[in-house]
Amino acid sequence: MKRLAEMAFPEVKQLADDGRALVILPVGVVEEHGAHLPLGLDSFAAEVYAASAAAHLEAGGYEVVVAPTINYGVARAAIDFPGTLSLEPETLRSMVVEIGRSLARHGLNRLAILNGHRDLQHMKALDDAREILVSNKAAQVLVVGFASDAAMTAACYRDGVKQFYQSPRADREGHGGESETSVALHSFPGLVKHEVIPELTPNFDYDVEAFRNETKDYWSISDGRGYFGWPQAATAATGAKLVAIRGGNIARVILKEWGKA
Ligand SMILES: [Zn+2]
Repeated sequence: MKRLAEMAFPEVKQLADDGRALVILPVGVVEEHGAHLPLGLDSFAAEVYAASAAAHLEAGGYEVVVAPTINYGVARAAIDFPGTLSLEPETLRSMVVEIGRSLARHGLNRLAILNGHRDLQHMKALDDAREILVSNKAAQVLVVGFASDAAMTAACYRDGVKQFYQSPRADREGHGGESETSVALHSFPGLVKHEVIPELTPNFDYDVEAFRNETKDYWSISDGRGYFGWPQAATAATGAKLVAIRGGNIARVILKEWGKA
């Protein structure tokens, strides 16, 4: 796995000429994730899943190149929490289209957008960007991770992980809850406010429909807590399993779509 920003231009030419390059573009956001987790969690998680998926993709014959992460996104549901930043959907769409076109110009025309942030308008912007790139025949493009297509999200993030949840209400685990806290404890523990976690009471009785459909904001449906589920159920060991399995899931989805190199 290579990181585009760490390469020099002749290496990029060599990679494009070889024809087996697959670019992963991690996309996250700056958004609150409870008092215990960093605002950049979705970006960091997308990078962690990219690295986990890369090993499987390279076993499938690809040369994986990870482009610099888009750290900003559309985050309207949590906008009342200090530090949450939101782009307009068209800004995000334009960024992705322009990055995709630039990559394609240099022969890097196989692009997997790996999205770590669940927000309906954010996901639609990524879909729209994919449509534009594909219709211009600029590149082969897939949106993996959190996607407008619920089956895609499930195939990447939910398949094969339910048995690892320790929460008594796994069905209520969401934003900032057991899953995201576990991934953070495993992959970037230095950014977790460990001392806060014991104070976090379970948030199981929230308006699930409003959460899923974004008809109410996170502040009101979490009583200002900013997480959904029970962060205390999280462990680094669970995070390790989630990262390994989801990385494998993401690679499988891509290989199913594009075949081996
Ligand atoms: Zn998140």
